[in-house]
Amino acid sequence: MNVSKFDLIVVGAGPGGYVAAIRASQLGLKVACVEREPALGGTCLRVGCIPSKALLESSEAFHRAQHEWAGMGVLAKGVSLDLEAMMRRKTQVVETLVRGVAALFKKNNITRYEGTAKLENPQTVIVASAKERIVLAAPKIIVATGSKPASLPGIVMDGKLVGDSTDALAYAEVPNELVVIGGGYIGLELGSVWQRLGSHVTVLEFQKRILFGLDEEIAAEAHKSFAKQGLEFRLGTKVNRVLTRDSTCAVEMEGAEPIKCDRMLVAVGRVPNTAGLGLEELGIELNRNGSIPVDEHFKTKCDGIYAIGDVVAGPMLAHKAEEEGMACVEQMVTGYGHVDYNTIAGVVYTHPQIAFVGKTEGQLKDAKANYTKGSFPFRANARARTLGDVDGFVKILADAQTDRILGVHIIGPNAGDLINEASAAMAFGASSEDLARTCHAHPTLGEALREAALAVDRRAIHI
Ligand code: FAD
Ligand code: NAD
Repeated sequence: MNVSKFDLIVVGAGPGGYVAAIRASQLGLKVACVEREPALGGTCLRVGCIPSKALLESSEAFHRAQHEWAGMGVLAKGVSLDLEAMMRRKTQVVETLVRGVAALFKKNNITRYEGTAKLENPQTVIVASAKERIVLAAPKIIVATGSKPASLPGIVMDGKLVGDSTDALAYAEVPNELVVIGGGYIGLELGSVWQRLGSHVTVLEFQKRILFGLDEEIAAEAHKSFAKQGLEFRLGTKVNRVLTRDSTCAVEMEGAEPIKCDRMLVAVGRVPNTAGLGLEELGIELNRNGSIPVDEHFKTKCDGIYAIGDVVAGPMLAHKAEEEGMACVEQMVTGYGHVDYNTIAGVVYTHPQIAFVGKTEGQLKDAKANYTKGSFPFRANARARTLGDVDGFVKILADAQTDRILGVHIIGPNAGDLINEASAAMAFGASSEDLARTCHAHPTLGEALREAALAVDRRAIHI
């Protein structure tokens, strides 16, 4: 049998895998990348970050045209929804970016194989497709196979009445009643999309609060804001059973009347994709949550096999996967490569947006850390006023002794873009004084970050 030889084989072409493949090629390796889907880009491009953000943007535009434009002096009569066009735009955005990754592969001489990969031994990957079976060999293999939606025991996902995020990115009609299980990233982002387009959305969350794991003060503010928009929350709720009949589901919960809906979105987290890879046969035992154990250089127990992205521990985020892809390859080739997990931000693209980096106040309290705090509301920021988007605030947590920034939490306009300044500051070990002394252009939302830094020392100017 023919064996194609490479320096590195990457399994999976999501943000972890494709970025690792490009970086490896830049560093002079002969690289193959195996992807079982016809489109490159992984969950993020095909059914994750990008289509969800395209729909969030469109649905927000629809909402603003109806409810906010008149206040800005723009009168638009007869604003109505063309869901098919909205979905077409989403598909076009995805296809453009997918083509972009294919072009990057070409530019970087990465050989792409379409098919399902299985690790035959530590240096051999078998790629199986409907057409053929190909054998690839390399001294190093990176597993970047990502994750898939978690399911709930007793709930049958038929993809019609009851489905996951991929289904909710492509409903052909706006549901009247949408029930979302899970008040996390997906539940809130996609719940917001359909609520803005006209659904009545009920979010059922197991915990006593939404956005579990995020700073409590920020999550409470977000809850208030979403409730004002019309999202209904049932917290501390355990779903027992979902019965489907014709075009209706009945959701049965403990200690509450069942809810009827015409669509149900299950968004209770994601699980690593490892089935059929042949890892166990190579002596790689999985963690309890199904992720692949790796050391600080992304090496598995099996020499020559590495793993990165959603398939290993840590936040399931595209930029975390990218960071790991680059660091893994750089370490492999140059001996240096590092991910600063403390500066990996999280962003929830709802309205208001939520973004955070570093420690939450709860974590600092639990660790009995001596910290100071400065907050600044967007209602006192000139740019937010001109945008007509004044809800929310910036909160900076700093070490009480050294003033080093320990965490930054933002809820408000463009929080997802603003947080990168905080990540950069933290990456350079900045103090809140460093941020406070940096001149910020006026009028910008970034000035709220500076004012929060000034507020750490009780000397904010505009409040
Ligand atoms: P993936 O992107 O999952 O890619 C893995 C690839 O491996 C897939 O293409 C898969 O087909 C392939 N594969 C799996 N097994 C095999 C095999 N045996 N052989 C060949 N190929 C295989 N993150 C953010 O940072 N920001 C966001 O805004 C965001 N929004 C999201 C919205 C939704 C609805 C969802 C579901 C996720 C979102 N995420 C977001 C998470 C983000 O998509 C993931 O963290 C990211 O895609 C992980 O990258 P990865 O490369 O590890 O894996
Ligand atoms: P999540 O972990 O963000 O939220 C899941 C929620 O479901 C949690 O609040 C959890 O308490 C709740 N839950 C779990 N079991 C439940 C049950 N039986 N009944 C009721 N509630 C239950 O997961 P997600 O929203 O599915 O998203 C998956 C991952 O994808 C995220 O963790 C994130 O890493 C990634 N993602 C990121 C973005 C972004 O960066 N903007 C967007 C979407 C997804």
